[in-house]
Amino acid sequence: INNFSEIEIKILNKLNEYGKAYIVGGAVRDILLGVKPKDVDFATNLPYETLKTLFNEYNPKETGKPFGVIRIRVNDTDYEIAKFREDNYENKDGLKIIPEEKKVSFIDDIKNDLARRDFTINAMAYNQTEGIVDLYNGQKDIENKMINFVGNAEERIIEDPLRVLRAFRFMSRLNFSLSENTIEAIKKQKSLLNDIPKERITMEFSKLLLGENIKNTLTLMKDTGVLEIIIPEFKATYNFDQCNPHHNLDLFNHIISVVSKVPADLELRYTALLHDIAKPVVQTFDDKGIAHYKTHEIVGADMARDILTRLKLPVKLIDTVAEIIKKHMILYKDITDKKFNKLLSEMGYDNLLRLIEHSIADNESKNDEVVSTENDFYERLQRAVEKQMQVTINDLVINGKDLIELGFTGKEIGQIKKELLDKYLSEEIQNEKEEMLNYVKEKYNK
Ligand code: ATP
Ligand code: MG
Repeated sequence: INNFSEIEIKILNKLNEYGKAYIVGGAVRDILLGVKPKDVDFATNLPYETLKTLFNEYNPKETGKPFGVIRIRVNDTDYEIAKFREDNYENKDGLKIIPEEKKVSFIDDIKNDLARRDFTINAMAYNQTEGIVDLYNGQKDIENKMINFVGNAEERIIEDPLRVLRAFRFMSRLNFSLSENTIEAIKKQKSLLNDIPKERITMEFSKLLLGENIKNTLTLMKDTGVLEIIIPEFKATYNFDQCNPHHNLDLFNHIISVVSKVPADLELRYTALLHDIAKPVVQTFDDKGIAHYKTHEIVGADMARDILTRLKLPVKLIDTVAEIIKKHMILYKDITDKKFNKLLSEMGYDNLLRLIEHSIADNESKNDEVVSTENDFYERLQRAVEKQMQVTINDLVINGKDLIELGFTGKEIGQIKKELLDKYLSEEIQNEKEEMLNYVKEKYNK
């Protein structure tokens, strides 16, 4: 526990000089796990006004919700200092209906502040006089890598159903398991998730997707019936026999294998999750009884768009995921340098890199290697970048004005620009004014 930084101990001392304070929640958990906390939260009996004065030198900001919390930022870390509080859930709709100011009441005790927290591993506090305050066996659960609710699991889910996803989030991120009791409560109360605003669901789901234990987590989400509440389209992938010699896994297990093999990048994880989502929709059989999935990339890109829009993810992420899904079979074919240059021009470096990473993970999740191992995509990408092939129509040295001067009009201008880009990406001409003008003049007799 000596692993808290100097500044954290300094804040703690200062708070304890004027009142009573602890480091609480995720930071205590992370220190016990031996990892550096992302952000450190403090709980204290001091009122907001006092906190503001005490930490004036750090330019404290008031966080919007909950009220009475200040945030300071030192050396790239956020510190939140909040007065002890307990949550009051006045009716079943809890978080949605009760106004924020009425939802929390301040109390002068850490005990209730810890009782309102979700899991035992997140419900510990620390200060230098009392050491670790662990009223719910959080340390034991950390040792056993086990997630348990504080108090009655079902009641805690009813209070805030988002906690179902938080349980899966910590399972995925920390490589923990959910206790039997937690799993049973989730199975019984999972449908309450339907009433939670999509933004809150998506925030937890995205964090969960980036975890290293993602394969087991998605499997348990399927087995408890939670995954299909978030993405109903997933139901059709469960036990879906791909009836295809390339695959020994059923569709669901193939998908989660790919998800677990791509790097922990949000766009890539969503791409992997949804890349084959259209397979059950487009499946056809030939007369040998082998299944085919023509157009599943195109239909899948549209389905992914719908799903991710429903989840209220940012448009930029949705566009990226849809584009990679649409192209996710391209690298399976032998691909010429010309085609590779074109892909780089169309997608840009980041997304072509993602396409490569996805294809490799997809390939490794199949029976046989369909992507040729001789195809060294990373090197080819590097070569294309070095040759400066990351060029789009707007990067051409020739512009509309040049073409008008040569006597072209209207639609012709766009068509010629496209042609020039194509010739450039095929490495037939260079992106140089003289050369491009000569090419156009000669070809069109201008
Ligand atoms: P991370 O390192 O990912 O930020 P964290 O444990 O800090 O993990 P936060 O979502 O930042 O998680 O929440 C901070 C703390 O607040 C938690 O550790 C937990 O004690 C409490 N908490 C947050 N959300 C809830 C909730 N919905 N119900 C109960 N307690 C919660
Ligand atoms: Mg946190």
